[in-house]
Amino acid sequence: MAVERTFAIIKPDAVKKKVAGQILARIEASGLEILAMKKIQLSEQGAKGFYAVHKARPFFADLVQFMTSGPVVALVLEGEGAIKKWRDLMGPTNSQQAPKGTLRGDFGTDVEQNATHGSDAPETARLEISYFFNASEICAVTEALPA
Ligand code: ATP
Ligand code: MG
Repeated sequence: MAVERTFAIIKPDAVKKKVAGQILARIEASGLEILAMKKIQLSEQGAKGFYAVHKARPFFADLVQFMTSGPVVALVLEGEGAIKKWRDLMGPTNSQQAPKGTLRGDFGTDVEQNATHGSDAPETARLEISYFFNASEICAVTEALPA
């Protein structure tokens, strides 16, 4: 399997609950490498832009409100099959349906307040990483990926 990068967010609900450290520990235990990390407060514009793909959905305004309700931790993760690996660690979108042992099952509340975000494909990963990080902020600990 190819080495990939993915983009992750520890969402405001998890930061507020003080479980960001537990989530980071699970990332490290999983073998995924943390290449970049920052704690930031998303602006309304920033959250709208990030989730623009959902702008026509009925939950969009609530989602923007939630994502700006407090600081988030943004991360770049790298590893073999990192995109799927991270989504498997998160579990399904709805925390109430997410099994125990997954991040959303253990730390999320419902379909909206679900503790973490993860990119869903290589192209979205690239876009999302560049939305939050400059190239100089990413620590390339492994060999450079082909463009
Ligand atoms: P994410 O993109 O955050 O990793 P996802 O890919 O599992 O989550 P998406 O369908 O992309 O799910 O939804 C983006 C986010 O919008 C969800 O993580 C959740 O916070 C929120 N969301 C999704 N569906 C609903 C819904 N029906 N009602 C309220 N919020 C929702
Ligand atoms: Mg998504």
